[in-house]
Amino acid sequence: MNRPRWPKLTLLIVACSLFAPLAWADGETQPGRDLKQAVDEAYTARMKKYTTEPFFTSPLVNYLPASKNVPTPEAVLGDVAGAPGILPYAKDVYKYMRLLEKASPRVKVFSIGTTEEGREMIAVAVSSEENLKKLEENRARLAKLGDPRTLELNDAEADKIVAQAVPVYYITGTIHSTETGAPTALMELAYRLAVDDSAYVKEIRDGVVTLITPVVEVDGRDRMVDIYKWHLAHPKEFYPPLVYWGKYVAHDNNRDAMGVTLKLTENVMNTYVHWNAQVLHDLHESVPYLYDNTIGDGPYNAWIDPILADEWQMIGARNVADMTKFGMPGVFAHGDFDTWSPGYLMFIAALHNGISRLYETFGNGGADTLERTLEPEEYARTWYKQNPPLPRVLWSQRDNNNYEETGLLVSLHYFNENKRTFLKNFYLKAKRSVEKPSTEGPAAYVLPPDEKRATLQLELLRVMQKQHVEISRTKSAVTVALPVKKEKKASKATEKKEAKKDEKPEPTSKTFPAGSYVIRMDQPYSRIADALLDHQYWSPEDPQKTPYDDTGWTFGELYGVEVARVTDAKILQAAMERVTELRVPGGLKGEGNVFAIENHAEPALASLRYRLKNADMQAAEEAFEAGGRKFATGTILVKAGDGAQLDAASKELGLQVIALNAAPSVKSHPLRAARILLMHSWLGTQTEGWWRLALDNLQIPYDYASTQTIAGTPGLREKYDVILFPPVGWGGSLNNIVDGLPTGWGNPLPWQNTPETPNLVGPNDATADIRPGLGWDGVAKLQQFVSDGGVLLTVMDTSQFAAGIGITTGVSSSRAEKMKIVGSVVGTRLVDGVSPIAYGYSEKVAAYCDNGPVFSLSSIAGSRRRRKLGPELGARPTGRGTKDDPDFAVGRLGMETPEEPETEVWENPNITDEQRYNNSRLIPPAMRARVVLRYADAKDLLISGLVEGGGEIAQHPAVVDALYGKGHVVMFSINPMWRGETQGTYSLVLNTVMNFDSLNAGRKNDEK
Ligand SMILES: [Zn+2]
Repeated sequence: MNRPRWPKLTLLIVACSLFAPLAWADGETQPGRDLKQAVDEAYTARMKKYTTEPFFTSPLVNYLPASKNVPTPEAVLGDVAGAPGILPYAKDVYKYMRLLEKASPRVKVFSIGTTEEGREMIAVAVSSEENLKKLEENRARLAKLGDPRTLELNDAEADKIVAQAVPVYYITGTIHSTETGAPTALMELAYRLAVDDSAYVKEIRDGVVTLITPVVEVDGRDRMVDIYKWHLAHPKEFYPPLVYWGKYVAHDNNRDAMGVTLKLTENVMNTYVHWNAQVLHDLHESVPYLYDNTIGDGPYNAWIDPILADEWQMIGARNVADMTKFGMPGVFAHGDFDTWSPGYLMFIAALHNGISRLYETFGNGGADTLERTLEPEEYARTWYKQNPPLPRVLWSQRDNNNYEETGLLVSLHYFNENKRTFLKNFYLKAKRSVEKPSTEGPAAYVLPPDEKRATLQLELLRVMQKQHVEISRTKSAVTVALPVKKEKKASKATEKKEAKKDEKPEPTSKTFPAGSYVIRMDQPYSRIADALLDHQYWSPEDPQKTPYDDTGWTFGELYGVEVARVTDAKILQAAMERVTELRVPGGLKGEGNVFAIENHAEPALASLRYRLKNADMQAAEEAFEAGGRKFATGTILVKAGDGAQLDAASKELGLQVIALNAAPSVKSHPLRAARILLMHSWLGTQTEGWWRLALDNLQIPYDYASTQTIAGTPGLREKYDVILFPPVGWGGSLNNIVDGLPTGWGNPLPWQNTPETPNLVGPNDATADIRPGLGWDGVAKLQQFVSDGGVLLTVMDTSQFAAGIGITTGVSSSRAEKMKIVGSVVGTRLVDGVSPIAYGYSEKVAAYCDNGPVFSLSSIAGSRRRRKLGPELGARPTGRGTKDDPDFAVGRLGMETPEEPETEVWENPNITDEQRYNNSRLIPPAMRARVVLRYADAKDLLISGLVEGGGEIAQHPAVVDALYGKGHVVMFSINPMWRGETQGTYSLVLNTVMNFDSLNAGRKNDEK
């Protein structure tokens, strides 16, 4: 490989690097080795060899101190950390950390839980022997700072603790499995912190507890190492991309810090909170050469304490400054990452009174040394990147490790120098969180006890618990004042008043009954609760034009439960008690031989259906009265004989069952435990992973197969009732789904266990070659499945796919042109409340939308609805009379013009008589699509997040039931199952499943 040639630049940077130690002022601790301590010469020589340019290292890591009794990473790796060709499995990393623990009293290893696939996660504490001996004592001190209520918010008391406490700096590595460098960097960092006697490192060791989780995504790490080994064994072949990381999701494992649905999030969260750590520093590798991205760019998350924003600036600026002095190019802290979404792992710290940090260093996705060529915008010098990365370099894993370790060491040192400030800030942030009700509000969020979706309320409260938020319950009713809504504009006041004449005045108070759940804002972790329960507004005018992730997430909306934001501090005076055990009372009430369960679109209903597989369950197609009560459409009726079982299961699931002494006379149809197939494409498994997670949590069984398997499975309808085809994600176009990856050249890309890849296939899928897609055979089989009476459920890009292969009779799907709805919460409206898909839902449904496709209906097969461009159809021409008068022709009598009835955007457009004449494409009324939910009007579309140009999708169908042959294609433009955050819309999917053979219930056909 050719080495890049920039002799002048190289010389200049080398010069900087040589002078670096002199750049520290008198009295500052010089970074660099202690000349009295021996160096491990052999190790140091190889580190130097693997470092591709002299300026890709620093005085902190360009040597390895020697130790008589503590093993270096070589003991496990067989070479130095970051050596080419070496990528350790998690178990090897752990083995080394435990060797360190054995050899040094300065290292302790803790098990912090397991992954979905049962692999262990660890945290390694490195500090002075003295500090580690007093870990518990120190933890108790930090816990007091972390909960200032224990100090009665007394600053003087806090100062005493600040003066004594040793802070905890928590570093997490390789959550993103394709970003492979962190484990070896962290092995070597742990060694250095335990062994190095330089003044610089000694200060860190004595002053800070460094806590390290070297591998966050353990399941994914082992798969990635497998793939790398396969690559080494087949050096001339292409190797497969990492299709699966953890059991459920890939890159999105770093978007789970809101819902806390993954074990890795839960384990890191618990560790962070248990240790009362001050920092959570997460390591990533996708930007050259070190982007300390927490300073990033706006908009910042609106719920973080401004003290934290300042800490980001302090730490980030110093990090860049120190590494600049070392002469290391490409270190910067501003950039295009906004910190709006709290979904990132590091944000556990940001909203639990700590400091979140994230590095993007430069990784090669393995341990090969590669020539890397950057994009112009990556090597451009900007105001915040005065020493940018080089346009082309030879880059090694060792270079990456040098940057990671240097960055961490200067961070740890700076943190130690200023630890009293940071500890005091830790206390202050917690104190300000406790004082929130009086200083900034709100006082609390309240979830009333009469919530009709009790099980969903419970799920939401469980998220709060996982976030370590305290939950209380009122003992008596409490009335609070509601904030007065301001009239908008004075000039329009008269107009408004007139319009409002008949409306009732806004209530000024609200009473919450005894038993209401209260999430008090006078607690240390009030900010995370506030951030998750509040609404978000991202202005279309925001200078940030490319939101990094979701812009809205309001949990009460997405769970479909009532959450009241209460500003009146009186709520905090109400008698209440802390709740630690959450449960919903369920079970059977009354006597009788028929049982009714109200349907409020709770996913637990589907769990019940599958749990009691043999029970005779029916869904009422209309509202009815029985036993003196009213029951709504969709109510579930269970026949006699299943009482005891039903009682036990409904108790467990928190569902209330009402016994009736006679079967009500209401039209009903069977509710079935349908046989589900969840279909995935080898192009990407992450987005559908959130669907698997949802179904697994609900204990709903399903088969899981790829588009390839479908292509080779005859008689799909005999095996399955419903095929779920969740979004494919990036690249999920019709062509890609059908064609897969190119097979006209190259080698097969297997996803199989082999001697080199023992971990690749976990609980998921396998194939000899991931490249082939569904193929046209597969398309035909899917068409046949639906035509034979099966139900295919499609979402976003797979809805586009279904429309493209011609099985969505009367529904077309297109991409919006200018609209920007970036992971937002939007309003939808029920169109057809008697469709079984809508059972349990009320008029307004909040849903997650990420630039979903725009569906349009047509009653003429193969044609799109007319687009309303140019002058309105049927507008009157220039002529006599006023605007509303008919025109006239001189010399003859006027003729009554035929009425053209108006249709709404979401409806099937009317057919004109002309269109009806000899038209074989006219879809018979009984075959036309049925809209279940539509997007709200443009003005009501935004609930949380960014909605720009929403007019393109407003009023269009959001969920539509299309017919094809004897079956249905149920198309979603929203994504109803996303990151564990959208439980309120899960039932749209589950209703489709359970009513798969009765989806036409309640259907009203057009007259002609
Ligand atoms: Zn990453």
